[in-house]
Amino acid sequence: MASLLAHSLVAVTAGKLYPHRTAVARFWWLAILCATLPDIDALWHWLGVPYASMWGHRGITHSLAFALLTGMIVARSGFPSLTVFKVKWWRLVAFFTLVTASHGLLDAMTNGGLGVAFFAPFDDARYFLPWRPIVVSPIGVRAFFSEWGWRVVKSELIWVGIPCALLLLLAWRRRK
Ligand SMILES: [Zn+2]
Repeated sequence: MASLLAHSLVAVTAGKLYPHRTAVARFWWLAILCATLPDIDALWHWLGVPYASMWGHRGITHSLAFALLTGMIVARSGFPSLTVFKVKWWRLVAFFTLVTASHGLLDAMTNGGLGVAFFAPFDDARYFLPWRPIVVSPIGVRAFFSEWGWRVVKSELIWVGIPCALLLLLAWRRRK
């Protein structure tokens, strides 16, 4: 994983860039939830599911299919007043799907662990992007507070923090 902070920052940035965002607080909470939810597989990783299995870490919960399913469930349950399959609903589905998929994309830019099973459950191959500048984050909170964690923070500041800050600045200027 990249750290949950980096994933959350991407969610907030995407929300600020999304032209149809709603003013309600749950829009933001749900965006952050979507961006971090794929790492729920760390739970069954600890319970012994092998990393390399489709159900393992960076497996099915990091796939595009899971992102789409999450986008649909979140749009349906988070915004029940919207009519399902209408344009406004699809817009939110697209947004929450992209935010969820951003998680796998960020993980595929890290320099360690196994790749991301983007096409699970149809294909269990693991993929990385050709460019992997982000230092991989340790699994677990305690391991994060270490020299390794500090290297993660530094690389994420550069490769996630700065691009997000620039995009936020752009969104802010556009609105002015
Ligand atoms: Zn992950």
